Amino acid sequence: MDWYDANRRSLPWRKTRDPYKIWVSEIMLQQTRVAAVIEYYERFLKTFPDITALARADEQDVLAQWSGLGYYRRARMLHAAAKQLATQKMPRSAAVLQELPGIGRYTAAAIASIAFGEPIAVVDGNVERVLSRIARSGSLDFWAATQGLIDHDRPGDFNQAMMELGATVCLPKNPLCGRCPVKQSCGTRGEHKTDRPPTRKKSTIGYVLATNRDSIALVQRPANARLMPGMWELPESKRVLQSVPLLSVRHSITTTDYTINVWRGRAPKGSVQLKVAQAAKLPLTGLTRKILRRLSLLRD
Ligand code: SF4
Repeated sequence: MDWYDANRRSLPWRKTRDPYKIWVSEIMLQQTRVAAVIEYYERFLKTFPDITALARADEQDVLAQWSGLGYYRRARMLHAAAKQLATQKMPRSAAVLQELPGIGRYTAAAIASIAFGEPIAVVDGNVERVLSRIARSGSLDFWAATQGLIDHDRPGDFNQAMMELGATVCLPKNPLCGRCPVKQSCGTRGEHKTDRPPTRKKSTIGYVLATNRDSIALVQRPANARLMPGMWELPESKRVLQSVPLLSVRHSITTTDYTINVWRGRAPKGSVQLKVAQAAKLPLTGLTRKILRRLSLLRD
């Protein structure tokens, strides 16, 4: 805890005890890097400053604020839970929080401990790595082990300290054992490397840019699509339309590195011609937003 007090990163969600704001940050931080979340977190809270504002919002507006952050199911679940809570107080215990859409064991424990001081431990990938190295074992019951260590006076800070140690010192590939506050009691001091780099696949996708004065052709993904349902994007092109694409960008999603080629072309069947200003307010996929920014059709 002393190490955490002296070394904690100053992050916007660490300056509040407001359960709604902590909840939003925890949902955004799932599978997303801290640095990428900060900007979205601040913008989202400006638009939806409390549960009531989020509950009243239109889903398309919620997705538009989330656009670029990825894993859009998180935004839908957050919105659904806010609607459920619009007429009641936010639950204070992890057990009840877990009954809300999109809140699993980890998120419930994080909100309950940080916002309400419930002495309940969290386990994420960082905590697992720290504990398995200290104990020199990968087959611990991580939840029970962390629960046995928790600081009952400052459970929220304890949980954040464990995760902070994994995120900033006990790194997956090259742990900084020399700077580690628990090195004296660590069973491995970093020799026990747990993470192998994932094998990455390569793929190419083509998109058509069909503009007409100040309008652009977009398509909406089907409501039942497995990925990013209901979001808007440029129409795909299976064919190479010119010898040199208008734009070529790289885009990585989980373990695949995509080369994205954008061709100038006619608006394909099924696309909708929209004013660019109108398109900017839609829930665009992160990739489409990135392309339109590169082409200076959207501002940052
Ligand atoms: S000593 Fe090294 S391996 Fe052990 S917990 Fe600290 S940073 Fe991780």
